[in-house]
Amino acid sequence: MSAFSQVDIADQYVNRYKKIGIMGGTFDPIHNGHLVIAEQIRCKYKLDKVLFIPTGTPPHKSNRNIIDSKHRYFMTLLATVTNPCFEVSKIEIESNEISYTINTIKKLKEMYPKDTELYFITGADAICQLDTWKNVDDLSKLCKFVAATRPGHSLKEVDEKIHELYKNYNTFIQKIDIPVLAISSTDIRYRIKNKQSIKYLLPEPVEYYIYKNNLYV
Ligand code: NAP
Repeated sequence: MSAFSQVDIADQYVNRYKKIGIMGGTFDPIHNGHLVIAEQIRCKYKLDKVLFIPTGTPPHKSNRNIIDSKHRYFMTLLATVTNPCFEVSKIEIESNEISYTINTIKKLKEMYPKDTELYFITGADAICQLDTWKNVDDLSKLCKFVAATRPGHSLKEVDEKIHELYKNYNTFIQKIDIPVLAISSTDIRYRIKNKQSIKYLLPEPVEYYIYKNNLYV
């Protein structure tokens, strides 16, 4: 049985879930910062599980080449496999459409019982752009947001944005400071290109996968 179909089968037993974290991201590549954030937020909000959703064709990303979604999906699987509360979904990478979060959340809402609460987890940088996302007003009714801040990012800007989004769309956004997000996918890609070490920035199986497949060189 392929890893793809195992996730589908797991998702047939969705009825037991009440609170689910949705970890949306390009994950190009996934790293320990993402994993720490997901685990910390899972514990803080008592989430039953965190569903990692690598983007397919992400909005806002036309200016840079993102590696094939198949690689990003497998790296995400490798990174999360040891945590029984983590799952990976191919919902976006299997779609040929642009990965608008509103479409993903609507599909998930159909999959899970009506009273399931969804917490969309992403970086504060992405949250600061939220008012440019498709149907942000509808989206705000369907899920809550958790924004992970990164050292060096203006907290004032994030706070102002959170206030503005609440005022305009009633968007619920919780900000969470997790210093380990100083690790970034951009920095990891740069290090690989420049033959610098990436050890301990991401899980070892992901590191091996990157070298084996000659990614980011
Ligand atoms: P991004 O520009 O790659 O990420 C923005 C920042 O957030 C980066 O600093 C990134 O760090 C960090 N980040 C990304 N995913 C994260 C996560 N799950 N937790 C914590 N930090 C995270 O943004 P993106 O990955 O394209 O988009 C993030 C999510 O927002 C995706 O699910 C995407 O589909 C959604 N989105 C939706 C719309 C829309 O519906 N119109 C528009 C934009 C984004 P790293 O580089 O280290 O990952």
